[in-house]
Amino acid sequence: MRIDIVSLFPEFVSQIARHGVVGRAQERGLLALHGWNPRDHAEGSYRRVDDRPFGGGPGMVMMIDPLRDCLAAARLADPAPARVIYLSPQGRPLTQAKVRELAGESRFILLCGRYEGVDERLLAAEVDEEISIGDYVLSGGELAAAVVVDAVARLQDGALNDAESAAQDSFEADGLLDCPHYTRPVEHELGNVPEVLMSGNHAQIARWRRQQALGRTWLRRPDLLDEAGLSKADRELLDA
Ligand code: SAM
Repeated sequence: MRIDIVSLFPEFVSQIARHGVVGRAQERGLLALHGWNPRDHAEGSYRRVDDRPFGGGPGMVMMIDPLRDCLAAARLADPAPARVIYLSPQGRPLTQAKVRELAGESRFILLCGRYEGVDERLLAAEVDEEISIGDYVLSGGELAAAVVVDAVARLQDGALNDAESAAQDSFEADGLLDCPHYTRPVEHELGNVPEVLMSGNHAQIARWRRQQALGRTWLRRPDLLDEAGLSKADRELLDA
């Protein structure tokens, strides 16, 4: 998969993406990241990409032309058509379902804003979709782009050493939160590992994990249970 990042600081995203699973996905040829800087498409000795907002008020607004030319260059770099996604606090909240959808695409372009944002005419003409990573305001879209890249990269086939681990994560197939995890040592001053996990009884372990996942979803994110489509057995486990 190919992701193009249009940003005044494209190296910001690629630096973050050098490590861990995302770095490995790139090394394995599963993901190619390409940065594009609108400043390279700006005119004049100052290579200006922003200007004051019409109507007055604080801050600056990213101008149409450097962004449009930059997006055109990014599009042309690969023959496959690419959706343009603008990272924006006003976009639809990012979910694991959306991440799965994006992970299945062969390419897309992430547009990162700065300052007060981007001239609305550019957004109307060039952007297919807006995505928010939460109800708070960042100073730029780069961290949000890095979040999208990370979440999508780990779902590429072969990125994780054990593909099963992604399938069991929170918000995955059944829409519940993940169960708790433990590793060595078995006994510790902070507590002992639940005995069932060392029983070797796979059916009991699966039942315990399901009960834990249901229980913590009920406690922490009861809104997810409404969507989860619980079975009769799940309801019995929740009531137990
Ligand atoms: N004036 C804008 C507003 O209130 O909607 C906020 C502009 S923000 C300071 C600058 C840039 O950061 C935005 O153009 C966007 O690209 C990015 N950004 C800020 N918060 C974000 C969020 N929650 N999710 C995704 N991108 C965000």
